[in-house]
Amino acid sequence: MTPSCRLGGPHRVNRNDESGQAVDITVTKSVLVCFHAHPDDEVFTTGGVMRLAADAGHRVVLVTATDGALGEVPEGLLADGEQLVDRRRRELETSAGALGVHRLEMLGYADSGMAGTPDNTRDDAFCNVDVEVAASRLAALLVEEGADVLTVYDPHGNYGHPDHIQVHVVGVRAAELAGVTHVYEATVNRDHMVRLMASNPQWAAEAAPPDVSEFGLPESEITTVVDVRAAMAAKRSAMAAHESQVGDFGPFLAMPAEQVEAAFGQESFRRRGGATDQRGTAALESALPL
Ligand SMILES: [Zn+2]
Repeated sequence: MTPSCRLGGPHRVNRNDESGQAVDITVTKSVLVCFHAHPDDEVFTTGGVMRLAADAGHRVVLVTATDGALGEVPEGLLADGEQLVDRRRRELETSAGALGVHRLEMLGYADSGMAGTPDNTRDDAFCNVDVEVAASRLAALLVEEGADVLTVYDPHGNYGHPDHIQVHVVGVRAAELAGVTHVYEATVNRDHMVRLMASNPQWAAEAAPPDVSEFGLPESEITTVVDVRAAMAAKRSAMAAHESQVGDFGPFLAMPAEQVEAAFGQESFRRRGGATDQRGTAALESALPL
């Protein structure tokens, strides 16, 4: 799998035994793998759970399907001769560092662009790649890492972007191939969003998605809501790291801290195969099963 970047150390710690002798033990912690479409997507829906998982000693792996070559860039941001893909890779590495990611993998597929644009038809666009081939690549990584939990997106990719929809399809298939049973669809609580916009018209005007009624999932379908307010500083740093995508992040970075917390202080998921949940409860979960 290329290219690869290891940001953290192996899964080991040094402890002293009763005689004061240093011993090297392998800690049995969980492995969280978050699968995303483009550099910067990791922040919005899973930045908090990644940071909290890392802080709790779990291993965190971020996999990004595309190079993000079709992102919009502010005039004059890139240096002479600098390629956007190179900039976005560096931004992603900085963001991953802020979020406590131990391993970052980019699958290297081409960005498909927004729905309805000509780039959607390219053979090498992620939305057009063979699902079995892409899923096999991700499955190999899941097996190698011994993944306990995989996050993908909801079936319409939160807002209909072809690459995000493909993350759902490829991710779900990869989990089947690798035998990962804890699969969570990272989503947005549509009702929470509507309430937030109703309470803050300025926010609605500056940072609202085009059509909220199509955004994320309704609250009634969400199984898992994680309070990530303790990770807000890291999430904000990760947003700031994606400097070339200021068009997406700028409105949020300019908001007062309490508004950012209201919008991004919880991360929402729909658990797949709920009947197999070991805890056997239909109640809302407040954490991923790490
Ligand atoms: Zn994206």
